[in-house]
Amino acid sequence: MKRLTTFALFIALFCTASAQQTTTNLNVNKVFYPSYSSNERATISFPKVNGYEVITCDFHTHTMFSDGLVWPALRVSEAWSEGMDAIAITDHIEYRPFRNYTVNDHNTSFNIAKESADKLGFLLIKGTEITRTQSIMGHFNALFIKDANLIDLKDPKEALREARRQGAFIIWNHPGWAVDSTYIRAFQQEVIDEGLIDGVEVFNNTEFYPRVMKWAIEKGLTVISASDVHGNIEKSRLEKYGVHRPLTLVFAKERTLEGIHEALKSGRTLAYFNNTLAGKEELARDFVKASIKISPLGTGTKNTDYLLVNQSDFTFKFNQGKKILELPANSSTFITVPNNTSSVNLIFNNIFINENIVLAHDLQLK
Ligand code: ZN
Repeated sequence: MKRLTTFALFIALFCTASAQQTTTNLNVNKVFYPSYSSNERATISFPKVNGYEVITCDFHTHTMFSDGLVWPALRVSEAWSEGMDAIAITDHIEYRPFRNYTVNDHNTSFNIAKESADKLGFLLIKGTEITRTQSIMGHFNALFIKDANLIDLKDPKEALREARRQGAFIIWNHPGWAVDSTYIRAFQQEVIDEGLIDGVEVFNNTEFYPRVMKWAIEKGLTVISASDVHGNIEKSRLEKYGVHRPLTLVFAKERTLEGIHEALKSGRTLAYFNNTLAGKEELARDFVKASIKISPLGTGTKNTDYLLVNQSDFTFKFNQGKKILELPANSSTFITVPNNTSSVNLIFNNIFINENIVLAHDLQLK
């Protein structure tokens, strides 16, 4: 009797399970799932500053045509999907560990990337990196060159002079990389004195060189922030946390290669990395004025509240007196001041205007 009951239970369970099965309309030959890559492009937005377009650029990238690990076309597609406006491909002339697998024409990586850039309407700058011993001479990026092969010269000064003849904008790269303290060596002073250097990296990869801000101001060099990327740009976990590659914000009259070149020569840039800006005081101030809009919220018996609206993709961190405040990207906050106050002094802790000096700005309330 007991065995019969168990058997009956088994049949009952089996029948119930069968009744819960449902057939689908899946094509048994092949099923398509959503793609794990996309054509999406992020948006990086900054308001115009004094009528200038703010163009987001990375002026220092590598491909497998020097010591990078990626094909040149990928440099364009990754920058495009990040929402950036322009990059320069700056493969080393002298250091090419994969030369047995690539051709020995120094213009090739640009030519390959240019095809992709043109299809996307993306701004691609032709560049190269003139590379000598870091502790004695250093590395220099020449942008807007015409023919990288002509820059393949033994004498580093002659290489820089040839880049200059081609109309290049020349950057002294990562002055603090692979050395314990940043200093100006004889060779570097000589090429600066000869007028061969136009800009200098204050951010490179994950490094910031505060002392170089002082040199840039004193010597009239344009400040640059660049990734110097060799592998791939982070797309997954870090990007989710808002980590972005170093960028140079270029204040240009127009969104073209000529516009970028003119702005670089005129020194209109802010270097940007790790939610920190570094650049000339005047430009930093103009950037703050363009980004933060102010309006009164309401007035009490003693105090008035003012709404600060941040129209940029930069998160401002500042002190109002002893108060520590944050105005996140594309967000608002309010400050409270005594009635009839016409301006409020804010110290922007993440905007550097010189060696370890941050921007102090009187925000006009009326
Ligand atoms: Zn490099």
